[in-house]
Amino acid sequence: MQARKILPLAGLVLLFALPLLPVPEFWITQLNYTGMFALVSLGLVLLTGVGGLTSFGQAAFVGLGAYTTALLSTRYGISPWFGLVVGLLITVAVALLLAWLTLRMSGHYLPLATIAWALSLNYTMANMEFLGKYDGLLGIPALSFMGISLQDGRALYYLIWVIALLAAIGVRNLLDSRPGRAIRALNGATTMAEAMGVSTFRYKVVIFVLAAMLASVSGWLFAHFQRTVNPSPFALKMGIEYLFMAVVGGIGTVWGAFVGAGVVKVIEDQLKEVLPALLGSSGNFEIIVLGVVLVLMLKYAPKGMFPYLSAVFGRWLPAAQRSRDWQDAAALPARDKPQGGDLLLDVQAVRKQFGGLVAVNDVSFQIRAGEIVGLIGPNGAGKSTTFNLITGVLSLTRGQVIFRGQPVGGLPSREIARRGMSRTFQHVKMIADMTVLENVALGGYLRSGSGTARAMLRLDRDEERRLFKEAEAQLKRIGMADKMHELAGNLALGPQRLMEIARALCTDPALLLLDEPAAGLRHKEKQALADVLRQLKAEGMSILLVEHDMEFVMGLTDRIVVMEFGTKLIEGSPEDVQSSPEVRAAYLGTEH
Ligand code: ADP
Ligand code: MG
Repeated sequence: MQARKILPLAGLVLLFALPLLPVPEFWITQLNYTGMFALVSLGLVLLTGVGGLTSFGQAAFVGLGAYTTALLSTRYGISPWFGLVVGLLITVAVALLLAWLTLRMSGHYLPLATIAWALSLNYTMANMEFLGKYDGLLGIPALSFMGISLQDGRALYYLIWVIALLAAIGVRNLLDSRPGRAIRALNGATTMAEAMGVSTFRYKVVIFVLAAMLASVSGWLFAHFQRTVNPSPFALKMGIEYLFMAVVGGIGTVWGAFVGAGVVKVIEDQLKEVLPALLGSSGNFEIIVLGVVLVLMLKYAPKGMFPYLSAVFGRWLPAAQRSRDWQDAAALPARDKPQGGDLLLDVQAVRKQFGGLVAVNDVSFQIRAGEIVGLIGPNGAGKSTTFNLITGVLSLTRGQVIFRGQPVGGLPSREIARRGMSRTFQHVKMIADMTVLENVALGGYLRSGSGTARAMLRLDRDEERRLFKEAEAQLKRIGMADKMHELAGNLALGPQRLMEIARALCTDPALLLLDEPAAGLRHKEKQALADVLRQLKAEGMSILLVEHDMEFVMGLTDRIVVMEFGTKLIEGSPEDVQSSPEVRAAYLGTEH
């Protein structure tokens, strides 16, 4: 056995042996709470830490799970296990409704909306006659599992921790998968993910519902642990505390949820004892201390305690390096490619107005299969805007784009990606804390199909191998296979731009669109890029190359379209363009 597996294994053995040891009941109870809280904060790791969607309202979902089983078991004598299922169904229904209402909101509106519905759900619990109003519901039965009563805290401990660990493993599996890469793009790289064919809204809903389900399960355990429910543990205050746990532990890491839940629970209980004694009067002073700590942590340790813990314990934990086990995986499906010379892209008088500014003024040009066409012009000429009109990132004011014989104007960028256009970005867009290989594998999204459930259950490994084989092949194609295990954020700009090309190639495109791939590159890096593009052309790839740097496109392109002030100036061979006095004037007019 590897030495690095000893520590996690020992921890696991200890976790499950604890109730058998003479540990005081107090600490078993603390650990029970920790497991239940960790379930909720695990949902927040996914939703807020990874997905960037802040929710103060998770306590309301805990309440949904708790109240459902409480009501069904006390009023109707229904089995708690059936209550769990019903609670989850209700939670999913409510979460879907709330997602539909609020997840399209941006910025600070979403957190505000979560506060609003957390308050109203809690208010509902407190004011419904049949839910016992503020007194809640009493006499909830204890759980039993296959005839074994889990009435004792030490017995319930096992159920809580098995569920919590399974949930953690499920979330961890999910984050390392096809849907997981899409989820990891939600926080800041949605335009890129959409260009790779991902419906980012769909994944926002997925993580929102998953986080709600985890909270609901926690509530179910809570109800049968306390044997009574009332509205106060599901109030907004607890919702904030759950978020606090996730932040303290390490908002982006699965195991941070457990660290945070444990630390916050223990510290809060100590403060509850110590502070009133110290201050000589009673009150919820611990809230103030926790609030101050939260602000300090957000400022000085925004990644929580987890990075510090892994710096200390990391060398005894299993290494994260992905093993290269995909050599014999089957190839991913490939699309029909256009024949050389076929009309591939027909841009017909496209126009874009931003208010009064005409950024693109009825521009037309065509690309035939196998060509490299350059789109050049001084800064502000409208190149990127044209590019975004073609790829569906911006909507057309007028005109049409025909791709492979079909109109694509007005389609969202993920639909255009599905039809075989793939692009890079003027400002590199990637998931910085994912490896180069994983970033490139995101390009294979549309050529694969594993969903969230398959990923959580680890049933997606065959397809993952196929994806990584393809990603490695594309990295080889551009000469970057040696960097595949590095974190994308650690690369220099040149390799990052090449990585974007590999990711675009991983979509198996019929047309590759590059937005200023040479911008910011050093001379050597530019040469390497030019070599890659020449090689792609030799392989029959069709490319639209948007570039500011005239010299760079001269030796590479078959044809060049020159833009100035949103209008097409001329179109012709590189020689024509180079000798054109108008082009010189356009460049001289804006350059020094
Ligand atoms: P290029 O890529 O050739 O440097 P752009 O297409 O980025 O030029 O910009 C063309 C013109 O449109 C510029 O004047 C720019 O300021 C303007 N523009 C671009 N995007 C927007 C936007 N989202 N809103 C308003 N004006 C914009
Ligand atoms: Mg631009």
